Amino acid sequence: MVKGKVIVVGAGIAGLVSALELARAGYDVQVFERQRAPGGKMRQVMAGGRPVDAGPTVFTMRWVFERIFGDAGKVFADEVRLKPLTVLARHAWSETERLDLFASVEESADAIGAFAGAAEAEGFRAFCARARDVYETLEEPFIRSPQPTPISLAFGAGLRGLGDLWRISPFTTLWSALGDHFKDPRLRQLFGRYATYCGSSPFDAPATLMLVAHVEQEGVWVIEDGMHALAKALESIATENGARFFYGAEVEEVITLGGVAAGVRLRSGDVVEAQNVIVNADSAAVGAGLFGRSVAPTVAQLRRDQRSLSAMTWTMNAQTRGFPLIRHNVFFSSNYQAEFDDIFRRSRLPREPTVYVCAQDRDDDPAEFQGGRERLLVLVNAPATGDTDRFSAAEAAECEERTFALLARLGLEVDRSTADTLLTTPSDFNALFPATGGALYGAASHGWMASFSRPGGKTRIPGLYLAGGSVHPGPGVPMAALSGWLAAAQLAVDLNSTRR
Ligand SMILES: Cc1cc2nc3c(=O)[nH]c(=O)nc-3n(C[C@H](O)[C@H](O)[C@H](O)COP(=O)(O)OP(=O)(O)OC[C@H]3O[C@@H](n4cnc5c(N)ncnc54)[C@H](O)[C@@H]3O)c2cc1C
Repeated sequence: MVKGKVIVVGAGIAGLVSALELARAGYDVQVFERQRAPGGKMRQVMAGGRPVDAGPTVFTMRWVFERIFGDAGKVFADEVRLKPLTVLARHAWSETERLDLFASVEESADAIGAFAGAAEAEGFRAFCARARDVYETLEEPFIRSPQPTPISLAFGAGLRGLGDLWRISPFTTLWSALGDHFKDPRLRQLFGRYATYCGSSPFDAPATLMLVAHVEQEGVWVIEDGMHALAKALESIATENGARFFYGAEVEEVITLGGVAAGVRLRSGDVVEAQNVIVNADSAAVGAGLFGRSVAPTVAQLRRDQRSLSAMTWTMNAQTRGFPLIRHNVFFSSNYQAEFDDIFRRSRLPREPTVYVCAQDRDDDPAEFQGGRERLLVLVNAPATGDTDRFSAAEAAECEERTFALLARLGLEVDRSTADTLLTTPSDFNALFPATGGALYGAASHGWMASFSRPGGKTRIPGLYLAGGSVHPGPGVPMAALSGWLAAAQLAVDLNSTRR
């Protein structure tokens, strides 16, 4: 028996998970996506005639997808080809200062010992234990909870648990907490970078974000056919379960009748009725009125200075030499504070950026690479001002020069003369994800309250739900997937209780 109609706006990872869960539960699900393919930020572009991942590249928290696929009667590893990485990432500060992090804590500790001395290796072990503690303390009451508040967290923890919450340092910045473990500024920079996984500055983000380090330590996988394969697999299983996908279908309004969600109006003018609507677009678009005035007040408007990081990305098929690239590589700037000041305080492209390079034809052993041109995603952080300040061609070119000059200084030559390259700027990201200014992770996690300020899946309008990286529990592929799961669960609970 079909239980009711649900419209999902957007086929990002959260929208796909919501669609799958609800189709499986017997709802009549229609997904409207303005792009031509599923995945949202998990997009693929062509470079030199080859598909390159232009969005997320680090795949973690595999258990989230094992559960989602398992519930749908599938084995995740049968649907999506995965390969675990033994070397998580290679980091460089100069031509001679290089450090690998491994899947094994002890191997990483040995590498850190050789790189920076035995005391830093001990500091790393203590840091890993603390990051695990933070993760375990927050997993149930925060990550898996539909919409936690400081009060619900404290009540949930009980008097004994309050000590645990205090211990995980919610009021200390990540940068300062890292100083408890590392004297070497390079290591502070390396582990501070985890704040950027949530689009935040390590100088303003709370120490609790060290849980990202634990998540990575639990395992990083490569999706062999590219991250986009995950979106395609979810779309295919949702379709098998009856969900219908419409591409090139932009939703212009969420319609309400008597204060209750009633359907959507598409750009084509068509109106599609449904008792429930899940919006997977960035929640800022709802708050900014892009889905109509009647639903706008359900999401507080995000100020520009609350936005998370945007990025300048170059997807390319190019010849490289000089540096033994592995899948994930980070080339650090010499002044981390200046980089984040440029972005968050001066709203400008960093004078000297830290550069991430994802070499998509490599795993963890450079010797296995056959040579020739290779697919790269080169990324530097940028301010989310894509709706107000379109960087001039000269500014973009200057940023590109600085980026590739830093790579060359640290040993990696990229031959851009024959490369097929696509540049994506904050303005481009804003066009792809409207009302964000190009912010890729919703609101920045700055200050201890930020994580509680993200909207939850349920809105004040009956029948209207939110899902995605800008919504609780936050950004990143697995977290956004969890938000899609939570929105679907909340919708089902609400419908059942209304029926009763
Ligand atoms: C360059 C980059 C690197 C990243 N690296 C990582 C990483 O390594 N690991 C990781 O875990 N995460 C990473 N992330 C973050 C991760 O990609 C996101 O948090 C996650 O994919 C967001 O998913 P979402 O469900 O919020 O949907 P989104 O991906 O934001 O998709 C929303 C969808 O809604 C659609 N939409 C919007 N408005 C409308 C409308 N009006 N009508 C119809 N459709 C609409 C959009 O077209 C889009 O397809 C990265 C992101 C980027 C951009």
